[in-house]
Amino acid sequence: MLALNGGPKVRERPYPRWPEYDETESLALIRALEQGDWSRHGGKEVQAFEREFAELHAAPAALAVTNGSHALELALELAGVEPGEEVLVPAYTFVATSTAVQRRGAVPVPVDVDPDTFCLDPAALDAVATDRTRAVIPVHIGGHVADMDAITAWAGRRGVRVIQDAAQAHGATWRGQGLGALGSVATFSFQSSKVLTAGEGGALLLPDDDTYENAWTRHNCGRTRELRLATASSNFRISEFTAAVLRAQLARFPAQNARRATRYTELAAALSTVPGIRLQGRDPRCTTTPHYMTTFVLDQDELGGVDRDTVALALLMEGIPAFGSYPPLHRTDAFWTGPTGDVRRAELAERCPNAERVGRDGVMIPHQALLGTRRDVEDIATALTKVLTELPRTGTTPAA
Ligand SMILES: *Cc1c(COP(=O)(O)O)cnc(C)c1O
Repeated sequence: MLALNGGPKVRERPYPRWPEYDETESLALIRALEQGDWSRHGGKEVQAFEREFAELHAAPAALAVTNGSHALELALELAGVEPGEEVLVPAYTFVATSTAVQRRGAVPVPVDVDPDTFCLDPAALDAVATDRTRAVIPVHIGGHVADMDAITAWAGRRGVRVIQDAAQAHGATWRGQGLGALGSVATFSFQSSKVLTAGEGGALLLPDDDTYENAWTRHNCGRTRELRLATASSNFRISEFTAAVLRAQLARFPAQNARRATRYTELAAALSTVPGIRLQGRDPRCTTTPHYMTTFVLDQDELGGVDRDTVALALLMEGIPAFGSYPPLHRTDAFWTGPTGDVRRAELAERCPNAERVGRDGVMIPHQALLGTRRDVEDIATALTKVLTELPRTGTTPAA
């Protein structure tokens, strides 16, 4: 019997806690405390972290900021996106991607995703671009890198700026290259769910030193290093404490990534025996992914109709960390608080069938489930098989 209905759980033991930490982080915090300067002005931690983070991604420079949302807002400013202009975003993403555009007064234009990789579909760009399109934001969803070859080439032809939303893709590579070597700005988040975290925080990778200096001024209340009040901006600086913890976490990151890669291979093998689900695909040119989320989509035809939210809840009751995927942007209330341009929800739903499907039938398993043992990931497949075998069928594919 399903744990959802009072039966025994597949597992009682919890998955590894996230984040992992020990006295390394304690000592880093004390080091930041005792150096006496707790801001980047005078302290050493923020600047050292920026160098280390840039190096991890083969970027010319990195700037640490308050969070991933602010990193996107700053990147849009650097790209020269003005109020009323349009920015192409994948319809399937965490809502912060489009909210950042709206907070600049610009219009996010949802674009459908690839049915296999769930990342922005480059083939869908032409149909939605206009002469007001200023930028495109590919999101490396779940840590899988979007088709950067096609998107960068398309943007180059159209004179459109590229901003990579890499909030889920720390350490990812494309054709063996770090995300900072792809010629565009990339933004990151260090919020507590991400694969590199200090509870909160963010960063930008910048393609050259001029852009870094411009970004530096803009994250510093618009004040240059020479203390000139150059532009109306805000304060997006992080404290030395955040950077000290990030540096300690960064030292753990390669080993964690290797562990997740091993566990993911085992998980994918185990899930391949479960009928009626399809795992997020990975473009072979995405040579490294941190596996932020393992996402699979329920095949409603093969399963005969199951309710996704019930599947996720049933998994959770069996002891597996699982939750429903992101709703497509146009199915959130946030999106319609605007600006949205002259478009209706039904139109976007029709234009983005793949985003609709992942948003409706997708289930996500967070990365800490990949930090334990082989047995831990095999339990996921065992529980999923149990849930999909025993859950009642609705008999119909849920309406869009
Ligand atoms: C987490 C996330 C953000 C926002 O980052 P915060 O640090 O939470 O502001 C933006 N985009 C994506 C895809 C994210 O996953």
